[in-house]
Amino acid sequence: MDNKRIALVTGANKGIGLEIARQLTEAGVTVIIGSRDAGRGEEAVTNLAAHGLAATCLQLDVTDETSIAAAAAAISAEHGRLDILVNNAGIFDFADAAPSSASIAAVRKVLETNFIGALAVTQAMLPLLRKSPAGRIVNVSSSLGSLSVNSDPSSPYFAQRYIGYNASKAALNMLTIQLTEELRDAGIVVNSVSPGFVKTDLTGYGVMTPEEGAMLPVQHALGGTDNGRFIEPGGYTPW
Ligand code: NDP
Repeated sequence: MDNKRIALVTGANKGIGLEIARQLTEAGVTVIIGSRDAGRGEEAVTNLAAHGLAATCLQLDVTDETSIAAAAAAISAEHGRLDILVNNAGIFDFADAAPSSASIAAVRKVLETNFIGALAVTQAMLPLLRKSPAGRIVNVSSSLGSLSVNSDPSSPYFAQRYIGYNASKAALNMLTIQLTEELRDAGIVVNSVSPGFVKTDLTGYGVMTPEEGAMLPVQHALGGTDNGRFIEPGGYTPW
């Protein structure tokens, strides 16, 4: 059995996911880059190799059950277990707006990717995580998914109403809460981690770089005593 920890990062061909993959590789973890487009995954592997970092990639579309099952089978065949799962893949769509006007098609797609995708990948990877001596799941969440923040007029996020995106992260947080209890006896630690406000293709602007945004998810992927928490840079986010 490989002594190095094995991690799968979904949506890791660019943005925060790629940085999470890079930093985990630097930390000595064997990283599998999940990419919905195989070619973009290979590009990410080449990009890391140019910096002396060896990662591998798997085609993984989190909305495609066949793709998810194939990725789980490939990890099982190659490694026999999984130690770290980072559910990072996510989308944002400007047609997903306030509840009164959001495009239902956009809302459905965002929920399908950001929540159902994370749930489906987690289900498929659980048999492999159960074989880890210390499994960890990091769900990459957002303050926009906090019910407390959304109902607090003094919050800077109060007016940011994207019903699909915000609900998808609230649902992802529910997954964190329920999984934590379900997996406690198996010793698998689960947290929701917000990277902060990061400039990526998803946001177009932000106050942090992907390198900075990846730091907290990586920290909680590697260890720590938090379990079943919603964590953001600087502390805990209220659910
Ligand atoms: P990017 O758009 O840069 O990256 C998103 C990644 O998810 C891409 O690799 C994309 O792949 C992938 N992805 C999208 N749909 C799927 C799918 N169906 N299957 C597999 N992969 C998919 O965004 P960020 O790096 O900013 O976002 C990463 C995560 O961080 C998201 O979950 C986001 O919600 C969360 N987040 C981001 C914040 C920010 O400020 N940026 C703040 C809080 C949370 P492809 O290249 O093929 O499109």
